[in-house]
Amino acid sequence: MTNHVVSLIRSDRAATWQEILSDLITDPQELLRILELNPDTNPYSLEALDKFPLKAPRPFVERIEKGNWHDPLLRQIWPSVFEETQTEGFVADPLNEEAFNPLPGLLHKYHGRVLLTAAPHCAIHCRYCFRRHFDYQANSPSRTQWEEAFAYIAADSSIEEVILSGGDPLAISDRQFNWLLQQLASIKQLTTVRIHTRLPIVIPQRITTELVRCLAESRLRLVMVVHCNHAQELDNAVIRGFRDLSDVGVTMLNQSVILKDVNDNADALIDLNKALFQHNVLPYYLHMPDQVAGTEHFYVTDQHATELIKTLHASLPGYLVPRLVRENPGEPGKTRIA
Ligand SMILES: *Cc1c(COP(=O)(O)O)cnc(C)c1O
Ligand code: SF4
Repeated sequence: MTNHVVSLIRSDRAATWQEILSDLITDPQELLRILELNPDTNPYSLEALDKFPLKAPRPFVERIEKGNWHDPLLRQIWPSVFEETQTEGFVADPLNEEAFNPLPGLLHKYHGRVLLTAAPHCAIHCRYCFRRHFDYQANSPSRTQWEEAFAYIAADSSIEEVILSGGDPLAISDRQFNWLLQQLASIKQLTTVRIHTRLPIVIPQRITTELVRCLAESRLRLVMVVHCNHAQELDNAVIRGFRDLSDVGVTMLNQSVILKDVNDNADALIDLNKALFQHNVLPYYLHMPDQVAGTEHFYVTDQHATELIKTLHASLPGYLVPRLVRENPGEPGKTRIA
C-alpha cells in the first residue's frame, strides 16, 4: 500500500474518544477563531484560566452556534472575568467534603451508598463546577488505595450501592473500567453501581462497544446519571450512545445544574426534559448551584428556581419534572427545595 492510500484510510476513520481527549481545545484564541467571535467584545480572564484552565472537547464545541456570545453551551465553558468577583458566602469547599473523606478517593456521606472518585480529571471544564477547587491529585487512588476502598466497602454491610464519580469516571480506559466493575461485582452485598458522568454528552464516542459489553455482562444493576444542562447538548451521536446503553438495560437518568442565562427559564427546561425522555433518559436532579468561589455569575435564587419548578409541574407529566435539590453539609441526603 502506498503512503498516500494509508493516509487516506487514516483520515477516513472517525477519531476515537482517546484521540478526542488528547486534542481538547485549551487555547481561548482557538476557541474564538472556531466560533467566529471577536475577543474584544467579551474579554476573558487569564487569572481564571490559571486557576481552572479552559478545556473543551471538539464534538461539544461543534454544537455551539457560531458568532453567538449568548450560546448556552459556550457560557458553560467560557472563562469569564466575573470569575474574579469575590462575594461573601462563596467559598472553595462549601460542602465541607473533606470531613467525609475516610480514604483517598472515597466519600461516605449518605446511608447505603459510597462515592468513589474513579478518575482525577474531566473531559471538559465547566466554569460553574463545584469541584473546581477539589484536590483531585490527592484523591486519585493508586492500586493499593483501591484495594483499601474495596475492603472498606466489603466491611460495611449497609453499603449496597457504589457511585462512581470524579472527575469523570469514564475518563479511565475500558480495561481499567472493566477491572473496577469486576472488583465491585465481587463484593457480595453490592447490588448497584451508579456512574455519574458527563462524557456521554461531551464526547459521545466514549460509549464504545467494549464499554457497553462490560456493562451488559455485569451481575450488578447499573445506573448511569448523565449530566446535561441544555437540549442543544444533544446531537445524533449522543442519542445513539443513550440508546446503546438503555438497550442493554442500563437505567438512564439525567442531572442538571440550574444556571443563570444557560437554562434558568421554563422553556429550556421543558425542552431538555422532553428531549431526554424521547431518548430513554429520565430527569433525576436539578441542582441548585453551590456557593463556590468564582461561580456567582451563574447563581439563581431559590425563589426563581422554585417558580420554575412550579411552571414545569403545570406543563409536564410528573415523571418529567426533576427534583430541585441542594446539598447542605451535615444533612443525611440532598435537601429538596420546592
Ligand atoms: C449526591 C451524593 C450521593 C448520592 O445521593 P443520591 O441522593 O443517592 O443521588 C452520594 N454520596 C455523595 C458524597 C453525594 O454527594
Ligand atoms: S464534568 Fe462535572 S465534575 Fe467535571 S468540570 Fe464539569 S461539572 Fe465539574
